[in-house]
This record gives sequence, structure tokens and C-alpha cells, in this order.
Amino acid sequence: MKLKKFLTFGISAMMAFTALTGCSGQTTTTTTDTESAAVSDSSSDDNVITMATNAAFEPFEYVDDNNHIVGYDIVVADKIAKSLGKELEIQNIDFDALIPALSSGIADFVIAGMTVTEERQANVLFSDPYFEASQVIIVKDGDTAITGADSLAGAKVAVQEGTTGDIYVTDELGVQTVSRFKKAVDCAQDLLAGGSDAVVIDNQVAQNLVSSTEGLVILPEVLTTEEYAIAVDKDNAELQAQINEVLQQLKADGTLDKARQAYIEGDEAVQAELEADLSTVTE
Ligand code: GLN
Repeated sequence: MKLKKFLTFGISAMMAFTALTGCSGQTTTTTTDTESAAVSDSSSDDNVITMATNAAFEPFEYVDDNNHIVGYDIVVADKIAKSLGKELEIQNIDFDALIPALSSGIADFVIAGMTVTEERQANVLFSDPYFEASQVIIVKDGDTAITGADSLAGAKVAVQEGTTGDIYVTDELGVQTVSRFKKAVDCAQDLLAGGSDAVVIDNQVAQNLVSSTEGLVILPEVLTTEEYAIAVDKDNAELQAQINEVLQQLKADGTLDKARQAYIEGDEAVQAELEADLSTVTE
């Protein structure tokens, strides 16, 4: 694949980031430790639309072997930017920093496998939903002690901090020992290492973790029913409406089906086709 137009990757505080430079496809990695230096205020640039995500949530957003941020949500974000005639900039930041990034103007929209919840609706506007999801339990293969939600209350449970998995385990189940991690993969590693007895996480991400990590299984029980949507700032009903229009187009023209085929069903040819079309980086 050819190298196409580049995204400017924003930098988040205390976070290593990878940016692509020039047309050579050369990558550079830089670290920064101050938020003020970190934030490029591109939202004031009319040609750029800034999206914030947490690219550690495969298959929705993740950093691939070429250090490119790809995934189902990235296809959607790229189409939104194109429809608005803008260049897409991605801010790759922690999940719990995503909603604050909207009110502070760091990002114009958030797409991050983010579930619509009432609490979040108090702070942001959500688009129409574009994906259905649920929370599931991952345990070690052969574990017979944990059979479902009923056996979690006294267990040690790993979750991603601030996610609906965290909220469900903490508030609904009242689990006493909850280990909170920034990344899905760290939850799985903690389970494998014996630090926790179970992971509660979004179903598609669980599928990815289990297929890429030996010795883990998903229990059949479905804990929640959730919908992913794109968030914008409370004051930005205009962008919310524009995004809803694009989502309708993407449903109608088969793009969402293709993204599902590529990233959820694992069709590599369709994935390559979609990534070749991104204004993001592909080599
Ligand atoms: N869907 C979950 C939530 O919205 C997890 C999202 C994520 O970790 N990116 O809380």
C-alpha cells in the first residue's frame, strides 16, 4: 500500500506518541510531560477536525505494527472528517480524559467504543448509536470457581478504569476488590499473572484478548446491553447533527458493514481496502 496523506497525531500529557513525518513514512517517537506543551490547539484551524480516542481498544482503535492508529472507529472518524471536508487529527489519550477533552476544546468529537450512559449524557451530546455491545467476563481457562456474575462479588476483578465495565462491577455488583487499569491488555495480563480472578470488559474487545492470549476464555453470560455512540461537546449540536447524517450515509452505503467485516469478523482483505482509503497513514 502507498503512503497517503498524514494525520497529525496529537500528544497527550505524560504519554509517548508516534508521529509520522514527511512523505517517507519515517516514524518518530517523542515524549512530553507537560499538558500545555502537549496540546496542539488545532481545533481553531478550520481545516482540521480533532478526534480524541484511547487507541488501546482493539478492534475499535489500536496501534498496529506500523505504528498507525487503525480500527473500526478510525474508519468512521475518517469518513466524518472527509464528509466535512476536513483533515482528521487524532488525540490518543486515556479513556477517562476523553470527555473532559470535549469541554476543554482539545477535541471536537470522541469516538472510542464509548457507551451511551445517563451520567455521560449530563456532560456531552451523543450521536445516534452505531454499534451494539455488552460486558462479558473473562476467566482463566479451566477455572471452575467463577461461573457468572453471581460469583463475582467476592472475587478480585480487573477492569478498565472509568468504563462501563468498571461501573457495572463496582456499582451494580458491589465487587469489593476491583483492580483498575488504563488498558484492556493490562487487565488480561493481571488475570494471567494471578493478580485478579476475572476481567469484565466489552465483548468484542474480550474476543480479541482471548484470541491473542493463550489460556483465557469468555463466559457465556451477557452482563449488559450497551450502545456505542460518538460524543461531542454539549454546545455543539451542529456537529452532532452533521455526525448523525454521516452515520446514516455510512449505514446506507455499506461502509459500516464493511468495517464490521474487516475489524469484527477479521476479513484482512477488506481491512486492507479500508485502510488504503484512510487519510490516515497506511504503508
Ligand atoms: N464501552 C466502554 C465504555 O464506554 C469501554 C470503552 C473503552 O474502553 N474504550 O465505558
